[in-house]
Amino acid sequence: MKYLILLFVMALAAKNASAQNIPVLCYHQIYTGGNHKNDLLHISWEQLNNQLKTLADSGYHTILPDELLMYLTEKKTISPGSFIITFDDSHKEHFSIADSLLRRYGFRGVFFVMTVTIEKPGYMTAAQIKELAGHGHIVAAHTWDHPHLYTTGKMDWEKQLIHPRKVLEKITGKPVWYFAYPFGEWNDTIISYLKKNGYRAAFQLNGRRENTVYTIRRMMVDGRWSGTRLQQEMTRFNKGD
Ligand SMILES: [Zn+2]
Repeated sequence: MKYLILLFVMALAAKNASAQNIPVLCYHQIYTGGNHKNDLLHISWEQLNNQLKTLADSGYHTILPDELLMYLTEKKTISPGSFIITFDDSHKEHFSIADSLLRRYGFRGVFFVMTVTIEKPGYMTAAQIKELAGHGHIVAAHTWDHPHLYTTGKMDWEKQLIHPRKVLEKITGKPVWYFAYPFGEWNDTIISYLKKNGYRAAFQLNGRRENTVYTIRRMMVDGRWSGTRLQQEMTRFNKGD
């Protein structure tokens, strides 16, 4: 009987090892002051600080997409507690708040920028985007103006996929290899354009699970979650829920 239990435990361990999900967190707007409510798209400065502090205190550490790719494609080992943190839509608070909070805990993040917003009120400037890259974060593409790539019949790929990459590379002086799908929407046509145009991997939201680096799943972090709740959700995500 003992032997059977051991076999069962070993089988479970093997199952977990092959489930390749390193949690990839996705945040949108961060705010200060009392004009918003915490929800799936908004989180207060204080709550983000709480969540990140809990993760740091519990031994979590960030990795960047290059390391995730090595893990997914070449089966390079990754230490326990690894996760990726991403911020979508180039809001100015990604620079004014997220950058310093991440650095406070020794974390580095991935910032998905839609290039139409650069220098617009409420969004990051080119100088701020360059500074994020200079601080060791990854600046990545999120199209020109956030269209529904999946549902639009005719897409201007040059404008949405190729030009944004060039703009961000010029600003940061670094290669741009990663992409996030607006609204998390993707299909095989978009993936083929991404591959053809030098993108190494792409991130969706928490949609269909596919075993490809062009559909890496992310968890939308709810601004209402405590740090402990976030940890529980990350563990669930790891198990494939
Ligand atoms: Zn977006």
